[in-house]
Amino acid sequence: MAAAASRVPRAQKSEDYKAAGKGDCIDCNICVQVCPTGIDIRNGLQYECIGCSACIDGCDQVMDKVGYARGLIRYSTENAMEKNFGRAEVIAHLIRPRIILYSVILVAITLVTAYSIAVRTPLKVDVIRDRGVLAREVEGGLIENVYTLRLMNTDEAPHHYHIGISGLDGIDLADIKDAEVASASTKSLVVSARVPIDNGGKGSLPIFFDIGATDAPAIRIKEKAVFIMP
Ligand code: SF4
Repeated sequence: MAAAASRVPRAQKSEDYKAAGKGDCIDCNICVQVCPTGIDIRNGLQYECIGCSACIDGCDQVMDKVGYARGLIRYSTENAMEKNFGRAEVIAHLIRPRIILYSVILVAITLVTAYSIAVRTPLKVDVIRDRGVLAREVEGGLIENVYTLRLMNTDEAPHHYHIGISGLDGIDLADIKDAEVASASTKSLVVSARVPIDNGGKGSLPIFFDIGATDAPAIRIKEKAVFIMP
């Protein structure tokens, strides 16, 4: 943010203006003329300022011409302006334990975020057991449970997925074992899992859907579900 150090105009050339408590501003008005938003930055920080620095450049050129120090209008903070800090004091004020701690935390958060984005699996899977279809016995001495699989491909490329199932002896999928999902798309599939009736288990048994992209081996997800054995 640009801000004026002082807007008090210098009175007479012969006058010791600093001793009189006056500033370096010679009221040339160049900062107001060049400002694209039409504000007078000598009145302090204002929300209209877009930080273009045109007033800083204009003022520095005038200060060069009259032989005063540059930086009458400069990027600064309210606190630094109030305490009349120079550049070195502002930098020294920045190097404080709290600022260093916040910086370390910010860098750590940035690194963790970047790492999690880099290693994320661009596939999400929801497994919903069909509660409308109870476990039922089908041909071949098998018990069948029905599930809806929602595959969300969050990658920018389409993928072909193979759907596997495990967790119980003899468990297998009855029909659908593959799916093609377009980039940034979701696909819902209704699949039937079947287990031999003499499997030995009873009640609510844990099983796992293992979904992996055949064209990108790193994309693989294992989702837990339950199989109801009557
Ligand atoms: S930085 Fe740009 S917008 Fe802000 S006061 Fe200076 S000239 Fe105006």
